[in-house]
Amino acid sequence: MRRIGVLTSGGDAPGMNAAIRAVVRKAIYHGLEVFGFRRGFYGLMNGEYTLMRLGSVADIIHRGGTVLLTARAPEFEKESGQKKALHIIRDCGIDALLVIGGDGSFRGAAALEKLGVATIGVPATIDNDIAFTDYSIGFDTAVNNVTDAINKVRDTATSHERVYVIEVMGRTSGYIALAAGLAGGAESILVPEIPFALSEVVERLQRGVKRGKLHSIILVAEGAASAFSVAQAIKEQTKMDVRVTILGHVQRGGTPTAFDRILASRLGAEAVDLLQSGCHGQMLGLLDGKICTTPFEKALAEEKHFPADIYQLAAILAI
Ligand code: ATP
Repeated sequence: MRRIGVLTSGGDAPGMNAAIRAVVRKAIYHGLEVFGFRRGFYGLMNGEYTLMRLGSVADIIHRGGTVLLTARAPEFEKESGQKKALHIIRDCGIDALLVIGGDGSFRGAAALEKLGVATIGVPATIDNDIAFTDYSIGFDTAVNNVTDAINKVRDTATSHERVYVIEVMGRTSGYIALAAGLAGGAESILVPEIPFALSEVVERLQRGVKRGKLHSIILVAEGAASAFSVAQAIKEQTKMDVRVTILGHVQRGGTPTAFDRILASRLGAEAVDLLQSGCHGQMLGLLDGKICTTPFEKALAEEKHFPADIYQLAAILAI
């Protein structure tokens, strides 16, 4: 192996830059050349790349987003798009490709693997919805961003004796809502993985008011319900002062936490070592603190197991 490619794909996640840095530096350490493809699979199909040097990844470890840029590239989901990418890979003399992204990006990587390109997936998505890894790069930073926002909303919620319904990201998963809800002491957490009844949320609120609570925070994952409809239902049933805050894209911005930088550095470096040892067609993950590999087909066929026990704990602690 002489030359590898690296790209970031799907939604940006804080820590992607630390992963790119680790890939580039570890590859150069092994005497390999690295081509960085811009805009994910879009750039791969269109030959948008630069040769990455040690200096190309200087001063990026602390930055959110991705210096390689990222994109959604629907054309790549078709065989014609994948063939286009294959030609570029062959033309550039790329021997292997590292894909930093979420499960959609891993489907793309798996498609290239089937076409004969050695690929490795590095999990990076704030949604943390990839099976066979306890954490994906970016999740910890997003959870910290949301927890920080809850702390701030709590100040105004208490001062005005209000209920705040806060909507957080996660697409079809509730990991951010669960982790930030537990860390932020939310009264109720609504996630798509666990059925809920609004009547229970209302009862919980009313119990809180009876014992003198001045405010309440309800955390809603975007895939579970609309914060506005939850707020409307509470208003109608309780006549409480209910406000909505939709955190949006601030959740995925800002400097990555030390946890995400360390995770990204470990996974990025390990990805290069794996390729060096001839291993590919796999995603990397962190399970019980140890780096492990899982074949794409197995990883993509499995739903991540939602930690119902932690959900239960959050509910108990918010009685
Ligand atoms: P996030 O979790 O942040 O949304 P993701 O990697 O899951 O990240 P997607 O938008 O699902 O994000 O996928 C990113 C890109 O991966 C797509 O735009 C497309 O180029 C490629 N991709 C997704 N699904 C497939 C597929 N089935 N076959 C080939 N390529 C795919």
